[in-house]
Amino acid sequence: MGISLQSFCWGFYGHQRINYYAVFLLPPEMLVLFKPNIQFLTDHAVDPDKRRYAVADEAPRHFIDIDHYGQYPYTELPRKYDDAVKKFGEDTVIGNGIVPWHIQIMQARLTNAFTEKNQAKILRYAAEIGHYISDSHVPLHASGNHDGQLTNQKGIHGFWESRVPELLAEKQFDFMIGKAQYISNIPGYTWDRILESGAASDTVLRAEAELNKLFAGDRKFAFEERNGKITRQYSTAYTQAYNNRINNMVERRMRLSILSVASFWYTAWVNAGQPDLKNINNLAFTAEDIKEFEALNSDWRTGQSKGRVHE
Ligand SMILES: [Zn+2]
Repeated sequence: MGISLQSFCWGFYGHQRINYYAVFLLPPEMLVLFKPNIQFLTDHAVDPDKRRYAVADEAPRHFIDIDHYGQYPYTELPRKYDDAVKKFGEDTVIGNGIVPWHIQIMQARLTNAFTEKNQAKILRYAAEIGHYISDSHVPLHASGNHDGQLTNQKGIHGFWESRVPELLAEKQFDFMIGKAQYISNIPGYTWDRILESGAASDTVLRAEAELNKLFAGDRKFAFEERNGKITRQYSTAYTQAYNNRINNMVERRMRLSILSVASFWYTAWVNAGQPDLKNINNLAFTAEDIKEFEALNSDWRTGQSKGRVHE
């Protein structure tokens, strides 16, 4: 039976929590800028999802269907974008999703923004790269069966990344994580996370298929309150049972997302020569930036997503 869950990659809730908690892993030299702007970094964690309503090129930046490239560890797929395009053609590579490469583009932009000591760009790129990094940690963002559509499990995408954290994170997840780490090999680190996600996607799907057999439909779904509205959704009992079955995987991937986001931010700052963030330029957003933020919001409220929607 179909179920309509308004949801996005990690859900808005997950993305916003990840950027928020990542700030606390930074060293004091970065906290001087990131802490006063934590609200911006939190709010704008979801801009890339909103942009999918305005820009057709946006959707493939959020996922990679890595199982379209053979078997784990997918050695058939060259890890460099140009080599992948040479081998498979650009349409195929883009169609299967480009999140690992887009993260590297965003990291270069963020590093340049630190070098320029451009506050507006630092905040914007930091917020946005946090989104793409987090998406790469979600198992179903690295699977062609991204919403269980091939195995009669439609809805599992939003179930894993929205319903589970929204129900359990505040009460049960532990977000004490330690400190941001320097990443010496950004592409290597990024691919490692993608391969983990790809490998975990089988567990995500299998565990739900098994659990589904143990729950009658009227216990699997329930009318419960969500964001102040009564909606039909995966029941609390089913969500809790699923979380147990996957051994808190959502919490583990969320914690690793937070560590990764903080570590990418920190690495960009180090690679830019550790600029002094107390004395910084371009403090304000330009009129153009502000217009773009507003346009993102209105397209998202009124529009149709262009390209694949993760629901
Ligand atoms: Zn996304």
